[in-house]
Amino acid sequence: MPRSVHQLRTSRRDTVPVLVHEASAGPVVAITANIHGDEATGVAVVQELDRWLAERLLKGAVVLYPSLNPAGLSNRTRVLPPDGADLNRLFPGHRDGSESERHAASIWKDLAARRVGLVIDLHADSARSIPYAIVDRALARGRGAKLAPMLEKYAAASGLTVLREYPDDQYVRYSLDRSLAGAMVNRGAVPAITVEAGPRRWISAPAVAAAADAVRGVLGCLGLVDFPGVRHPTRVDGGPWRRAPAPRARVGGIFRERLEPGARFDKGDVLGSLVDLSGAQLDEIVAPGEGVVISWAEVTWVDAGAVPGTVGLLEA
Ligand SMILES: [Zn+2]
Repeated sequence: MPRSVHQLRTSRRDTVPVLVHEASAGPVVAITANIHGDEATGVAVVQELDRWLAERLLKGAVVLYPSLNPAGLSNRTRVLPPDGADLNRLFPGHRDGSESERHAASIWKDLAARRVGLVIDLHADSARSIPYAIVDRALARGRGAKLAPMLEKYAAASGLTVLREYPDDQYVRYSLDRSLAGAMVNRGAVPAITVEAGPRRWISAPAVAAAADAVRGVLGCLGLVDFPGVRHPTRVDGGPWRRAPAPRARVGGIFRERLEPGARFDKGDVLGSLVDLSGAQLDEIVAPGEGVVISWAEVTWVDAGAVPGTVGLLEA
């Protein structure tokens, strides 16, 4: 199948590579990675898919963006180096704005010009996490209000544990409607899902395999490739699960997890505790409802008021 490589110029200094696999008429899917420069897993996932798609694409097109933030990757920062902006809160960007806003606008324009009909955005949460797919909020007042069932279908096709995004008010307060996936859904009326897999700062082979299979499953669901979809061994059924911060630590201390990522819990269960150097318990992290542990932060010390990880809570 024809493969072409392009360099999208986003500023005088920066270019973003774009790898395009085209078969024939059909859906166009974009796979984007490394929007957060310190989240490396997706880079390797895209490179793996680039090799795999060469022999496998049956119809449509897949547009691969191995890094939307190459400067952040080489700088080892989550944010865009010129001004410290979080690229994943800037979409659709501004053509006449700051360097970071222009960078976002260039990417947005490229996706629109390629008539992308689905975006799969690859992120990494923590080394201590199960891989998961996030269904972005299709806000009632957004252009993509009717996309919710389609988003659920694509997320399920990933074979991973599926989390719905934060409730509408938190979602907008955190500017997630201006994340790439959130803006695609709510401003572009284009379906998008987010896949979170692996540690941030190094490329872990099992995480790459999990995320690559998740993408293959979604492409298979659309008929772009012949792939039945695989259920990841950590997938937690039930739900629907809604993404939520783990309860905050009331005092600072050494965090000791009680339940592993992937473990189910009931309301009142102890998820972890804070201890001092003598081992004395200072506080317990207690489940506010039924749910599943998704990730623990890559930290030992948790400050008072800080969140030690992420959970999925059963949505009523
Ligand atoms: Zn991220």
